[in-house]
Amino acid sequence: MGLFDGMDKMGLKQISQDEIFKAEETAKKPAAAQEIKAKPQMTEENYLLERTMDCPVCGSKFKVKAVKSGRVRRVGQDKDLRPRFEQLDTAKYDVCVCSECGYAAMSRDFKNIMDPQKKLVLENIKPGFSYEEPATLYTYDDAIKRYQIALVNAITCGRKDSEKAYLCLKMGWVIRGKSESLDPEAEDYEAQLKKCKEDEDEALKLAYEGFIAARMKEEFPMAGMEQTTLDYLLAVLSMRFDNYVNAAKLVTGILGSRLAGAKIKDMARDLKEEIIAHQKEKEE
Ligand SMILES: [Zn+2]
Repeated sequence: MGLFDGMDKMGLKQISQDEIFKAEETAKKPAAAQEIKAKPQMTEENYLLERTMDCPVCGSKFKVKAVKSGRVRRVGQDKDLRPRFEQLDTAKYDVCVCSECGYAAMSRDFKNIMDPQKKLVLENIKPGFSYEEPATLYTYDDAIKRYQIALVNAITCGRKDSEKAYLCLKMGWVIRGKSESLDPEAEDYEAQLKKCKEDEDEALKLAYEGFIAARMKEEFPMAGMEQTTLDYLLAVLSMRFDNYVNAAKLVTGILGSRLAGAKIKDMARDLKEEIIAHQKEKEE
């Protein structure tokens, strides 16, 4: 259990994997790889601005770093829909944390909290909460910590499974970003890489389980995704966690769906080929 280590240092209760999808109703330096990719005279900080936020829970004003819109160029995506940008990893900047009371959520959901949930944050998160907003940019470790705090909030407030699953998915993507930014020359490179891979697996497994649970009881769109998009993502995650039967079922559904667009069907066809190749490999 490494993904949530160190929560106690921020004055938060240590959470365990089992807690995440329970109780829904009750409730430093720029990365080396990015430096190379970015234009020599531009650093990550050049693409950031400070945004002043009003905390909907405790009313205090605080600043967060945000990516300047229109300044970063999307250059593709990973198979599990993680977008890639030329200049920086924007997912590092998607969580807002109020250092006063500990309320945290994805920027797009930040204002979206009801009175009973505010009370839960003030009673369960604020006491003993200790966090300092990083001064310049968010390192990968800063970003991972911010997702952890947002996830604790989501559990405390009894957010939907899809919302918690989405936080886990994005945390997994940020951990992948960290693994890509590690310096291969560093003495502890292998150990760090191994830890990142384990943490990424843990986060994505939680996302996978959470979205499967959500798909059975929630309405679409879910965490901003229509059914075909979520089914595609679940197919990719099914393959990652060795459930090829489920992946095949989902892919067949997408290919037969009248609602699925041409692009997602193309992506589903690629998955189908991979599934067939995997079956052949197993038969040999
Ligand atoms: Zn606050």
